Amino acid sequence: MSRPCVFCSLLRDEEPATWLYRGDHASALLPLPSGRIAPGHTLVIPAEHVVGVQDASAEALQQTILLVQRVARSLADALAAPGVNVLNASGPRTGQSVDHLHFHVVPRWEGDGLDTWLNGRSRHPVADSWPDTLRLALREPGSQA
Ligand SMILES: [Zn+2]
Repeated sequence: MSRPCVFCSLLRDEEPATWLYRGDHASALLPLPSGRIAPGHTLVIPAEHVVGVQDASAEALQQTILLVQRVARSLADALAAPGVNVLNASGPRTGQSVDHLHFHVVPRWEGDGLDTWLNGRSRHPVADSWPDTLRLALREPGSQA
């Protein structure tokens, strides 16, 4: 039996959560207080259990990212945040903390003291031809591009 998913449990109202929005396809909640890196830091999750962006159905991904947009607009309206960082970790070796797709929406303000990007440079070795390999992998089935 696989490990129970905490976000699925929250979505089934089996445990308390601080919900900001509940929708049929996607919902928004606050992280636990110990995980909040800014006032207004919000998690957006699909109702469907998927691990990462790689696994999500088009509809779940669309509904989830549209809710990310609503949250970002609401953070501007409600907390006067001029921008947001949208952060996601999908799959092994990414630091994904809960194996249920989630986007962090972090409001940003001038001088808020947060850093944005991953630090350093990956040391993972790959062939120099990786852009061509990736371009091939990205082709739509049947396309000539
Ligand atoms: Zn889940």
